[in-house]
Amino acid sequence: MPEAKVHCSRKRGRGLHPWVFSNEVLRVEGDPEPGDAVLVFDRKRFLGSAVYNPHSLIALRLFSPDERELDLEFIQARLSAAAERRKADLPGESDYRLAFGEADGLPGLVVDRYGEHYVVQVYSLGLERRLDAVTRALVDCFGPKSIFEKNDFRLRDPEGLERRQGVLYGTAGERVVIAENGARFEVDIVHGNKTGYFFDQRLTRQRVRRLARGRALLDVFSYTGGFAVNAALGGAKRVLAVDSSAAACGIGATNAELNGVTDRCEFHVEEAFRFLKRLGTKPGEFDMICLDPPSFIKSRRERQGGLQGYRTINSLAMRALAPGGMLVSCSCSHHLFWQDMLDMLARAAQDAGRSFVITERTTQGPDHPVLLSMPETEYLRCFFLRVV
Ligand code: SAH
Repeated sequence: MPEAKVHCSRKRGRGLHPWVFSNEVLRVEGDPEPGDAVLVFDRKRFLGSAVYNPHSLIALRLFSPDERELDLEFIQARLSAAAERRKADLPGESDYRLAFGEADGLPGLVVDRYGEHYVVQVYSLGLERRLDAVTRALVDCFGPKSIFEKNDFRLRDPEGLERRQGVLYGTAGERVVIAENGARFEVDIVHGNKTGYFFDQRLTRQRVRRLARGRALLDVFSYTGGFAVNAALGGAKRVLAVDSSAAACGIGATNAELNGVTDRCEFHVEEAFRFLKRLGTKPGEFDMICLDPPSFIKSRRERQGGLQGYRTINSLAMRALAPGGMLVSCSCSHHLFWQDMLDMLARAAQDAGRSFVITERTTQGPDHPVLLSMPETEYLRCFFLRVV
């Protein structure tokens, strides 16, 4: 059991949030090593067990309301429980985000499952120090062919973790083929973005597929064609996907082939703002445009610049839409809340001089559950707008 105790003061309203910031820590009793499990108290009561990182702004990440070690048995139990929830929420699927950090009770651990291949990302020192246990737990619980760690990202820096990637177990399939709602996608685990595929847009892709029949669809920031392929499968008459990454477009073309839609699905490498400006400011041929940019607001400091970026790209797409067309506008910035996004879209529509109604909104799928006490776990917001 954890021995050291950490006393803290929680700002009002932070209730059950699983993070305690370094400026909320009052006193440490004992001599915990960075990454150790500790017992956490606020002024009045025991809050639970947490992993401790004195060098990070997030000093404590709570993982249990009880006195507990974060050990192999605990990780196995949490991963198995997460897998059961995925089975219930995504019946028939075998490719999904298996663990979504705090929302699955595993602070700072992301695991994507691509069939028998698993990809791990670690955001916290606590789980970093237990990476062997995570690997063991995955092997024991799921018998994978391979486990790959994709720990090459910027968010590891504030936790004091080095960036690296490589095989943790088995023989990694560098490229695997997965299925989502029956569509097939090739995933490049080693060179792709994040873990290789963005499972979070599952629900939006499903809607796009249902709405695409007979339309000419433009998929901007297409990556490997998540929206493009779904639209083509849904009966779009023509699909053009645009992304600045030649590698992503290459895999996109393979994905069009895998799904038998090469005749109506084309990939084009170009910077998105440039492409849309070139497309012109008059209503054109596309009557459905998807915009799924990378996060323009990664921290609160980037808010103003990011907002301007969203507004510009959306107004460009709004101008180009054919009469009666639909815009599917997405943001994966946690810091751009629903109302902020609505305000931004309203301004973009004003810039474009066109009027829209909202027909629908979607968010991240059930393999990216939102922890009610941790607003940061909700980050994906998509609006379906129709020109009126
Ligand atoms: N809609 C995709 C995910 C998009 S991820 C899906 O369903 O899988 C964001 C994509 O934007 C990445 O592929 C990245 O290469 C691309 N990107 C980032 N900046 C860009 C820019 N300025 N112009 C064009 N593409 C860009």
